[in-house]
Order: sequence, then structure tokens, then C-alpha cells
Amino acid sequence: MLTDRQPARPPRYELHDGSAYLVLHRDRELGPTDRCPFCGKQHWHGEGDGHRVAHCVKGRGRTLIAADGTKLDQAAGYVIRTRKAA
Ligand SMILES: [Zn+2]
Repeated sequence: MLTDRQPARPPRYELHDGSAYLVLHRDRELGPTDRCPFCGKQHWHGEGDGHRVAHCVKGRGRTLIAADGTKLDQAAGYVIRTRKAA
């Protein structure tokens, strides 16, 4: 489990078809993601990386601002990226 001592980092994002999506990393496929900046929880998704509908229970409608000022909307979902290929 991740702890609350993890330092806050500016949200990462990717552009797809001109829209910006938060990137949520995970260490392995089928494993939990890092703590979600929208809701503060970890999310579990299936095989394969890519754009997903956000699983957030809290934080719906929240908007984050990336380091360069890009707005990331929770309603747009996020992009799952696995750090290490299986
Ligand atoms: Zn979330």
C-alpha cells in the first residue's frame, strides 16, 4: 500500500487527438495504479495500457492543472501506463 508520505508531484499527461489526459502509472498489468490525483485512491484496470474511463468515486468533475498550465478533467478519464512490461 502506498502511504500518505508520498510527495505530491505535478500531474503528468498525454495528448491524444488534441485532448489532454492524466497519466496514471502502475507497476504491473492488473496491479493497482499509483494514487489517483483526482480522488486520492488507487485504481485497478485490466490488461493493456491506454485511455480508460475514470474509476473515481470521489473527485468527479475535478480539474487538475499540469505544470505547464494544461487542464486535466476527471470527466475525460485517464491514460493507464504500466512501468515495466511483463
Ligand atoms: Zn481516481
